[in-house]
Amino acid sequence: MAALQTIAHRATPQASVDFDAIVIGAGVSGLYQLYKLRQLGLSVRVFEAGTGVGGTWYWNRYPGARFDSESWTYGYAFSSELLEDWNWEEHFASQPETERYLNHVADRFDLRRDVQLKSRVASARYDEDARSWAVTLEDGRRYSARFLVTAIGVLSAPTMPNIPGVETYRGQSCHTHYWPKEPVDFAGKRVGIIGTGATAVQTIQEIAKTVGHLTVFQRTPNWCAPLHNAKISAAEMRDIRSRYAEIFARCSDTPGCFIHAPDPRATHEVSPEEREAFWEKLYGEPGFGIWQGNFRDILTDRAANALVSDFVARKIRQRVKDPAIAEKLIPRNHGFGTRRVPLETRYYEVYNQPNVALVDINETPIERITPVGIKTAEREYAFDIIIYATGFDAITGSFDRIDISGVDGVRLKDKWKDGPQTYLGVLVEGFPNLMMVMGPHAGLGNFPRAAEYSVEWVTELIRFAHERGITRVEATSAGVARWTEHVLASGQGLLMNEIDSWMTGVNRNVEGKQTRKIMRYSGGHPAFREHCDRVAADGYRTLALA
Ligand SMILES: Cc1cc2nc3c(=O)[nH]c(=O)nc-3n(C[C@H](O)[C@H](O)[C@H](O)COP(=O)(O)OP(=O)(O)OC[C@H]3O[C@@H](n4cnc5c(N)ncnc54)[C@H](O)[C@@H]3O)c2cc1C
Repeated sequence: MAALQTIAHRATPQASVDFDAIVIGAGVSGLYQLYKLRQLGLSVRVFEAGTGVGGTWYWNRYPGARFDSESWTYGYAFSSELLEDWNWEEHFASQPETERYLNHVADRFDLRRDVQLKSRVASARYDEDARSWAVTLEDGRRYSARFLVTAIGVLSAPTMPNIPGVETYRGQSCHTHYWPKEPVDFAGKRVGIIGTGATAVQTIQEIAKTVGHLTVFQRTPNWCAPLHNAKISAAEMRDIRSRYAEIFARCSDTPGCFIHAPDPRATHEVSPEEREAFWEKLYGEPGFGIWQGNFRDILTDRAANALVSDFVARKIRQRVKDPAIAEKLIPRNHGFGTRRVPLETRYYEVYNQPNVALVDINETPIERITPVGIKTAEREYAFDIIIYATGFDAITGSFDRIDISGVDGVRLKDKWKDGPQTYLGVLVEGFPNLMMVMGPHAGLGNFPRAAEYSVEWVTELIRFAHERGITRVEATSAGVARWTEHVLASGQGLLMNEIDSWMTGVNRNVEGKQTRKIMRYSGGHPAFREHCDRVAADGYRTLALA
């Protein structure tokens, strides 16, 4: 048993724990957290529900699943050896490539020996006497640890649509998150897909290549923009490798940790011709540039947002032959970029295929899933396969699915009933020694860039405690109140926060998630880091340490 337990014994004689730290989740965040905690010499066990590592990139193996982040900005930055020995094949890697990458990381750093797969954590209870966490798996096995670190993902709790009859369907059906490992053959098949978010867009454009007939059930169209993916040649990879330091420095300067930074100009500062030329350029370039690298005010100024929305609407009208279908594909209830922008490859052209139909379920609502297919208010559709691309109970969903209770048995779910309350997105008052990697109210963005920071911050806090024999680390109510207030203030004026989406915690398929909440820190990652760095530099004096 590692050194920390010895210290724990000294501070609280009753304490006897199985591990210094338990980490939940073996995705990008959990794997790196394991690596970092091991470096402190701690005993660590990672519990992962899946049968393999990789998190998002283990589960979401639906056809067409791939990055919207540039692969070479997404990989871990922490190890120059890893950067040296991994070659990305595509600018926007597919799920199989990313799953291979994360398995390579697990092997390269010998992480597997501390990862316990097929181990879903059902509950976690804080034991005040022992100053430790008791974790129970779904199968009843129990473990304890001084520190509990959640790395359970922001998009890892899939939700099925709230439609009766799902269990009565006799054909093949699947949520995109739970896609089977065996290939699914769509040739000649009648397929129905519910949903038109980022996952659905990737699935639709891929299966449209081989499907017999595809019916897309759409409630809310999204503003999509071209991905412009391409293979990475050996020469390009050499060039990327030589620029990694510059690439990661750039990512750390941008609000969303992407390679794309907002243009310093405001939309109305340039002439209509210049504006149009700039948008044409962005629309023709790879990745999130049109979202993250646009004029600085498109996500705060309604008039600016209306102009860019009109630009993208015109693109949709140009690409979709049937004007009535084009109009259905143009969002009316939100402006461009105020929801997560799905990046696409010939998505709009799919609707020009004679074997693809779009059903607007606002006009003809789905009444039920039947044994043969989907029944709307208008008619019944028969399908061989139904795909549920209905997304996730985002950000807090994976927390809600674990019965987490802190001091005096208070449940985290109850504590967050009216919205998350955290300190720096990492700590929760009343839940000592619980640390969240990429928790609610943390800075999100190009994920590993933000997650590496989050893991390193958590690791430093644990190191601090470890070195001083501190066995109880807790946020204070004043700290949480201040941070929550700051998070709410930093979200003011952002059009995104005025729209129903997973980013504002709305999921019509989940009870209690019908009203908008501020779920993430929107002040930009550089500012987020500044706050967190200051707390650490100040010796964590804003925390209650004992
Ligand atoms: C389809 C899709 C595409 C995406 N594309 C991008 C992209 O292009 N760029 C980007 O930056 N981000 C993207 N994301 C976000 C993506 O989730 C992150 O990039 C990243 O993979 C998250 O890593 P993580 O380790 O924090 O969480 P996850 O990868 O979600 O891993 C969490 C793990 O925790 C496990 N877990 C959860 N609860 C429990 C429990 N109770 N017990 C045991 N194990 C548990 C889960 O099984 C999962 O394996 C995408 C997400 C999805 C779903």
